[in-house]
Order: sequence, then C-alpha cells, then structure tokens
Amino acid sequence: MAAAFTRAGFSIAGDPRDAWLLVVNTCSVTSKAEQKGRRTIRAALRQNPFCSVIVTGCYAEVDRAGLEALDAGSVRRLFVVPGTRKSRILDMPAALAGEWPADAVALRAALSRFCGGATAASDAADAFRFDAPAPSMRVRTFLKIQDGCDNSCAYCLVPAARGVARSLPPETALERLRAAEDAGAAEAVLVGVNISRWKGAANAGLAELLHALVSGTKEIRIRLSSLEPDVFTEDFFAVLQNPRILPHFHVSVQSGSAEILRRMGRFHEPAAILAAIGRLREVKDDPFMACDMIAGFPGETEGHFSQTYDFCASADFAQVHVFPFSRRRGTAAWDYKPRIPERDAEKRVSILKNYSVLSRKRYIERWIGRETGGVCMSLKAEASAVSVEILADNYLRLQARLPRDSAFLPQRGRRLACRITAPAEESRVNCGAATLFDACGEIPG
Ligand code: SF4
Repeated sequence: MAAAFTRAGFSIAGDPRDAWLLVVNTCSVTSKAEQKGRRTIRAALRQNPFCSVIVTGCYAEVDRAGLEALDAGSVRRLFVVPGTRKSRILDMPAALAGEWPADAVALRAALSRFCGGATAASDAADAFRFDAPAPSMRVRTFLKIQDGCDNSCAYCLVPAARGVARSLPPETALERLRAAEDAGAAEAVLVGVNISRWKGAANAGLAELLHALVSGTKEIRIRLSSLEPDVFTEDFFAVLQNPRILPHFHVSVQSGSAEILRRMGRFHEPAAILAAIGRLREVKDDPFMACDMIAGFPGETEGHFSQTYDFCASADFAQVHVFPFSRRRGTAAWDYKPRIPERDAEKRVSILKNYSVLSRKRYIERWIGRETGGVCMSLKAEASAVSVEILADNYLRLQARLPRDSAFLPQRGRRLACRITAPAEESRVNCGAATLFDACGEIPG
C-alpha cells in the first residue's frame, strides 16, 4: 500500500500525527487482536484531529458496523474497506490525486466516494494484487502466495474473514520472486493464510511450487511462514534439501492432545506431527522449530494440557507461540462447553511461555561456536562501535559490534557470514551475539 502511494507521488509520514491519511490494517484472529485494532483506531482519531482513517483487514470484514461506530465525531473521518476488498486501496492514490495536497473536507468527500465504490458487490478484488514490497522499504521481501482457507477449525474466524483458499499462479510467484532477487533482496518469506493449501495445476502443491521457485532463481533465500501438518509429504521433505530454503519451520499444532485436536476440527495425530518434525531435523541441520498452541480450549482438562506440554518437550521446539483460547462469535467453538476459566487458561499460557524461554535458550546454546549465514537487518552507529543486527538463517537475531573505523561494514539487506559467539545480554527474543566474516576471514570487532 505504502509503495502504491509513494509511486503516485505521495510521501509517507514518519509520525502518524503528521499524516493526512492513515491506513489501519486490522486483525481478527483473537478478541485481543481486535481490541488492539480498536485502540489503534481511537488513538489515530484522537491524536490527529485532521486526519482521515481508512480501516481495512479481517476485522473490517467481519464487523464493519462495530468499527464505524468508533467514529463518534460530528464529521465522518473513518472509512472502512472490508478485508476481502483491501487490494482496492491500491487504486486509492489515483482516486485521491485530484484532491491533493490535502484539503480535509475535499479529502473526506473523495474517500467517501471511493469507499462507497470499494464496497460495492460488483467490485472485484484480487487478493494477489499487492506486489512484494521493494527492498528499500523492508529488508526482507514478503511474497504472498496464498489467501483464504477451506478448513473449518472450530475456533477460527479466518475462513469467514478471508474466504475460500486461493493460490497465486506459480508463474506469477516466480516472476515476483525473480523481480525481488533482481532488486537485491537477499531473502523472501512466503506468506499466506495457509500456505500449506497452495495449489497449482494438476494438483501441484507447495513442494512443487518450492521446486519451481528455487530452480527459477539464483541466490535468493526462501523462508516459509506457518505450516499446517498436512504439508508434510516426502516431496516436501525432498525439496527442503535445497540449501536456499532456510532452516526455520513454524508448525501450526494447537494442541498435543489427539482428543482436543479432534474437538478443534483438526485431524492430525500428535504422533504423526512429531514424526514429521523428526524428518525436518533430518533434512536440515538443527533448524529453528516453532509452533502455535492454544491453551484453555473448551473441554481441555489438566490431563490434556499435560499432553500438550509433553508434546512440546518431545518436539524440543525453540519457540512456542501460545495464545489463550479466544471465543469468537460465528465459530463452532463459540458454544463449546465446558469453558475453561480465564485464570486457568492464562496459567497454562504462562507455563508454555516459560517452557519456550528455556527451550529457546537451549537452542541458542547449541549454536554457540557454530557458523551460519544471515541478512544484515540494520546498522547503528554508537560512540565507539557500529552495532550490526543480523537475522540468521535459523531465525536467531544476532548482534555484532564492529569498530567505527572498520574496513568492512556490511550493507543493510545483504547476506553475511557469521559465527554465533554468546547469548546476548539483552533479553530480546531469539537474540545472540556474533562475529562477522568477509571473504578474508573473521572481522575483528
Ligand atoms: S487451517 Fe488455520 S486458517 Fe484454516 S481454519 Fe484452521 S486455523 Fe483457521
């Protein structure tokens, strides 16, 4: 979105209080995510009395009226573009160009006209219209290959918000990845609601797409976002052997109890997921393994929760991303009973979070003394040194310090070689210290 506005000659405000137009892209996955969205919108309207606010994303899809009600002023300043029509915002710069530089009244009138059109049933919206952002805007490229989901997990509002599963055609995916590589991107993250559901012609799946992407490009690394367990096939494990697919996997598990998984409408056996995790460790050298878990799903007993804890311990995840169950109106689990008291769910969340902190520490320790590639995310000049932040291939965030007069200073967005030397002192997630290498060997820092 930002790139579309920039291309049309608009400038991006560094501070929301200086903007004429704010776009808030909302999430609806939990009630907490919606609460954050509402807070952001209220703050935008309050802190900048001249701006207009466009609200889009999944929350805008599922509760348009609720969001419009946040605009309590006498003049309408909040305009909703439902998530399924979000890509129409790419047409907004052209529609607003005539009203610019902004006159608040004319701008609001233009937005009102535009958003009326953007929500009309006849307006087709293409979920894949967004280009991967240019490397100058983000260090890494995010390539959207999929949208929507055909599963019906009992707790999940996503199919209602995003619709049925759709896939970016493989030739377009390759074209966009090549463009990112040509523009200098070192790494692309493949994203979507459920990338495991990516489908091409003749029933081709994610394994075939990955094969086409690595064969059609030269250097760019590919990182996978969250995976559903049904993606784990022998073809998938085979393509992962390509070193340009990074050793970082985030598996959407949700529970370690087969009974709770069935209640959730998820039909994977925990033992099969553990076996697949074992296979991932065979094809990649000690990859960063992470998972999603929901604690306190209706009917989850202490016994079920212990199974989840034991599952995490057996899988030896480097990170557990855990949420308390969030009851979403419109989902099957809205009516499920018995509900778990909030304090019990929160207690289970904190047990898994504590596990996650310790297991991440163990993961970092295993990597101390080992070498890895990574991308330079940022450089910060300090009094006597330059601090370099690196995202390692295995998803560890590393920091290296170089003398200010170092003959070698890495470039933001470029690949580096480094050795992990110690856990960093600050308590940021996934953080470790590193030394860097160039072609001539280790760089003194
Ligand atoms: S697979 Fe993921 S996105 Fe699809 S319904 Fe289940 S939780 Fe939601």
